[in-house]
Amino acid sequence: MTCREVEGLLGAYADGELDLVRSLDTEAHVRECAACSASLERLEALHVAVSSQAPYYSASPELRRKLASRMAPRERWAVVRSPWWVLAAACLVAALVFWKVSPTGLGTGSAAIERDVVAAHVRSLLADHLMDVPSSDRHTVKPWFAGKLDFAPEVEDLSAQGFTLAGGRLDYINGRTVAALVYRRRQHTINVFTWPAGADESPQAEGMQGFHVVHWVKHGMAWWAVSDLAEDELRELARLL
Ligand SMILES: [Zn+2]
Repeated sequence: MTCREVEGLLGAYADGELDLVRSLDTEAHVRECAACSASLERLEALHVAVSSQAPYYSASPELRRKLASRMAPRERWAVVRSPWWVLAAACLVAALVFWKVSPTGLGTGSAAIERDVVAAHVRSLLADHLMDVPSSDRHTVKPWFAGKLDFAPEVEDLSAQGFTLAGGRLDYINGRTVAALVYRRRQHTINVFTWPAGADESPQAEGMQGFHVVHWVKHGMAWWAVSDLAEDELRELARLL
């Protein structure tokens, strides 16, 4: 495994979420590699700091009433009767889950989607499962999705603009099956995920685990492009799609 591959897996490794094979591979790499070992130590220190120093708050009677009013009658009774420390623990767990799922601290679903998108990108490279339909012909790739999705993704040939279509596959982002289009630029792989969405949004860029992510909504479709390419190249792709 390379440091880049390990980097993408360290969080899941520290949380014990990897399968056995990948966990052993990661462990073996970390044992030999000072840089990755230091990254893992930082992660574990953060973990310990959060679990030992996160503030505990007891729920006020007012918060307890508000929570209860949003619950089904059976749950409500349990909340009203439960001791304050049970509620406080529940709030802490909710806060930690929130913090973990959303490292940027905001509760918009986009942080969770970004995490999924980067994970899917890394997975497609690691597992050597980049394409189910390897083709540079949009007239082959687009029909391949028919019947596999409840929408028809736009597939563009952008080779004249320096983004070569390499193929497509299905992937799973934010709880739904989506179209993944694979483009190449020089030696770099770009995964572009798309699915139906609401109102248009202009492109926004984020960075995560050494990858750049640009996402936008156009003509009712959400687009998420992820790669180790520079951000402005992904923005260029966003303008073309
Ligand atoms: Zn390493």
